[in-house]
Amino acid sequence: MRIGILGGTFDPPHLGHLRAARAAERTAGLDAVLFVPCARQPLKKDPPQASPYHRAAMVALALWGRSRWLLEDCELRRGGTSYTVDTLKELATRYRRAELHLILGADAFESLPRWKDHEEIVRRCHLLVVPRPGASPYLLLGADLLPNVRLCRTMPLDVSSTEARKRFREGLGLSGWVPAEVEAYIRRHGLYQAARGPAR
Ligand code: ATP
Ligand code: MG
Repeated sequence: MRIGILGGTFDPPHLGHLRAARAAERTAGLDAVLFVPCARQPLKKDPPQASPYHRAAMVALALWGRSRWLLEDCELRRGGTSYTVDTLKELATRYRRAELHLILGADAFESLPRWKDHEEIVRRCHLLVVPRPGASPYLLLGADLLPNVRLCRTMPLDVSSTEARKRFREGLGLSGWVPAEVEAYIRRHGLYQAARGPAR
């Protein structure tokens, strides 16, 4: 059994996340993909804008109808700063016989050397790297020559949570950015109206 793990802030989840999961699934023949919202991302200066509950609910909505893509809330339950190495340990204990594949956008892959225990991360799982506009193409050119790393072939999608929040604040719709159900959720709960503020 091959399990993909896509960690993120998902503030909000968007079509780029779904494309990354699909590309990884195809490349490695994954049997399941776990979407893992973080409590607090160590490398991000600001905390998430939406609360853990809202972010998890939006991920669940984005995955609705896909039986092999699942919301995994272990980082939210752990709370505090979320470290991928801890999540990998927890999932390895739970899925003892599974092969774990960590799915990373190109920007996340570039930052990997700054992650806690990144050498252990690379020992514990396979890496699936998804191209993303804006990330340096140079590292990607040779990425799949590194041990344990595979590059997923897909058209890069220029969508980010930061831009989606900005668009929404400016009164622009999110069609083509987030699934329709996620946009409806954002409207219903009045998320992302202020530029910054405590998580609600
Ligand atoms: P933010 O703007 O808040 O940083 P984001 O859009 O980068 O949000 P994250 O939740 O930070 O989304 O990303 C989680 C994971 O998904 C990371 O590995 C990231 O590289 C990947 N990812 C996000 N958007 C894309 C995209 N458009 N294409 C490929 N990978 C993506
Ligand atoms: Mg990001």
